[in-house]
Amino acid sequence: MSVYAGTDPLTRRPIRLKSTVKTEQQAQIKLGELLKDASEGRTPETGATVATLMDEYAAVAEWDVSTRQTNEGFIRRTIKPALGPMKVRKVRGPILDKLYAELKRCGDLSCTGKPFIEHRNVPVLTINPHDRRPAWQQVAATLTGAIRSGILVPGDELPSITEVSALQGIGTGVMRHAVEALAAGGVIIVRHGRPAVVAGEPSNDPRLSRRRPGPEHDCNRAGCRQHVCHPMKPSTIRGIHGILSGAFAAAQRWEWTDRNPAESAKPPTTIRRPIPATSPEDVAKVITEARTRNAALGLYLWLVVVTGVRRGELCGLQLRDIDLDRGLVHVAFNYVVRGGQRVRKDTKTHQDRWLAIDPDACALIATHLDEISATLASVGIELRDDAYLFSNDPSHARPWNPDWVTHQIAAAADAAGVDLDIKGGRHYTASQLLAGGFDLRNTAARLGHSGGGATTLRHYADPVPEVDRRAAAYLAQLTARSSSPP
Ligand SMILES: [Zn+2]
Ligand SMILES: [Zn+2]
Repeated sequence: MSVYAGTDPLTRRPIRLKSTVKTEQQAQIKLGELLKDASEGRTPETGATVATLMDEYAAVAEWDVSTRQTNEGFIRRTIKPALGPMKVRKVRGPILDKLYAELKRCGDLSCTGKPFIEHRNVPVLTINPHDRRPAWQQVAATLTGAIRSGILVPGDELPSITEVSALQGIGTGVMRHAVEALAAGGVIIVRHGRPAVVAGEPSNDPRLSRRRPGPEHDCNRAGCRQHVCHPMKPSTIRGIHGILSGAFAAAQRWEWTDRNPAESAKPPTTIRRPIPATSPEDVAKVITEARTRNAALGLYLWLVVVTGVRRGELCGLQLRDIDLDRGLVHVAFNYVVRGGQRVRKDTKTHQDRWLAIDPDACALIATHLDEISATLASVGIELRDDAYLFSNDPSHARPWNPDWVTHQIAAAADAAGVDLDIKGGRHYTASQLLAGGFDLRNTAARLGHSGGGATTLRHYADPVPEVDRRAAAYLAQLTARSSSPP
């Protein structure tokens, strides 16, 4: 027997409570129970799939721009292909543990551990000398045909122009012309420094990546290779586990399921080896090297280590955020470049903060500003209040691209023979402050970490507590010991 109990809010299908019994009397009793359940709205758990859950969860999750990009990538590439079609209420801890174990062995979900060839579905490209179309058109037509017929699917990577040329004996000029034409037509997407891909929404079906190539397929000419397992890093698996925990917790709140399977699953643990912080001498070496390359770059790195600000936060610093008289900088925005878009967003922890800077740093900033103003004055322009402290354009209207800064600092560190990046600079700041006897709370506040100390900061009449002034002076003196700022 079955009793209608309303409509499932997600699948829009009618919910029927069902039961099978043997005798007429049992049937009467059961029917009574079913009707009671239906009238009380006690419906079976929803039939939603993990794929639906991930979509609903991603839509409401409070992720910042960069976290969102990362997490949506994990959902698309790993979570949906692995668990997407499963019913939310069917997912149990052991299923997640098994998934984590597989990812730890190989990040390719289609890999079972047995050797296999990673086929690339590049068609055989031939140029017919009797064809009246130019060679590039013939190549473009063959590739378009392969995409139309589904040999190549959205998201498939194409080998590089030089690789195809070498494998298939087609001139690089012809290939380039064909690729440019296909890109212009929106058929493929050319990406800087990465393989071009077939345009369109990639499928979540992992079987597609191991689909059998057509009869025309030639492994040698397509450049197919034996699959090599790439274990997924424990930290990455933990990231995936984090998304799943959040999503299933939401599913529980929404009453889609009674339990959170992520609670009983255990992602691989990372062995946390304490990373030794760079020594003051080494930090000073990199600052000196950076300064000889570009005075502003030297100042940038100096500010990273004495303030502990994040890369994008320092890029986003405008003149109005700097108070040289009182020795303060206001860190309110994080400047990021995502998919070519430049965005100023709230700081990572959504807390703006004021930081004390030492007199040496103030003097360095003042010199830097004088230089910019002098250059501008020579062409009759005044430096605006919203100009960025670090910029490569004359009027300082556009800040440095954070990726560019990373690159520049890496080059300076390389030249100085020191292993240091911007994150390492922050690490240096934190460890030196803690080693110097500054408490964790204030160090956290200085670094803009959420929680510890930030709330305390807000209650001070002076935006910067005395201890932060001491921190600023301490860091400056420590770093200057080996580098003496001008
Ligand atoms: Zn092949
Ligand atoms: Zn593998």
